Amino acid sequence: MSDFVLKTSNLTYQYPKGSALAFRDLQLEKQQHTLVLGDSGSGKSTLLNLIAGFSQPTTGNVTINGQDLYSLSGSQLDSFRAKHLGFIFQEAHLLKNLTVAENIKLAQSLAGLPVSEKDVQSLLEKLQLGEFSDRKPNALSRGQVQRVAIARALINKPALLIADEPTASLDDRNTFLVIELIKAMANEQGSTLLISTHDKRLKDEFSNNYILTAQ
Ligand code: ADP
Ligand code: MG
Repeated sequence: MSDFVLKTSNLTYQYPKGSALAFRDLQLEKQQHTLVLGDSGSGKSTLLNLIAGFSQPTTGNVTINGQDLYSLSGSQLDSFRAKHLGFIFQEAHLLKNLTVAENIKLAQSLAGLPVSEKDVQSLLEKLQLGEFSDRKPNALSRGQVQRVAIARALINKPALLIADEPTASLDDRNTFLVIELIKAMANEQGSTLLISTHDKRLKDEFSNNYILTAQ
């Protein structure tokens, strides 16, 4: 078994009748938090979607915790993803008919893990959401919704937390606060971060930068 949380090799992706993208190899050790930095159109979302197993590469491999992602069948991939990966997107995509706590518990049950009221509440409290656990998402502020999305992404202590431009819709102050919060929570849960942004100011927040240039 490899010591790397993530390894990519020779990844390329050809959009039908569109761009052909090639990504240099990426290898992350545990806790080697990494920023994927590039302008709009440089391939950040394409790369993260390949690493998440949302789309199949034209060539190349993705290995997470020693598991070759693309050797898994559809349902094996779903279950592997639910257990070992966490996601934060620009929009939270919470289920609006479920409470905050129920949204998080759903992530536990989708991963086939026991639902733990105690773990959910303790994580919500760390994110200053303890008093909102019974609220529906539409009764929360934007910042609170985003913290719920962070809790949902981390509840299963994923090996790899993938976040595609999580701060794109935030103002300057909140951008840095959210990045610090995601880092602190990932350290606590033992997850390794792979975060994309077009915001060059975040460069110094991460010791490891993977820079994409327009291809
Ligand atoms: P980023 O997330 O950095 O903005 P993307 O990964 O979305 O970049 O896009 C990388 C390149 O692939 C761009 O040139 C974009 O136009 C192209 N692209 C993205 N999605 C599609 C698509 N569905 N069909 C064709 N080309 C696409
Ligand atoms: Mg993108």
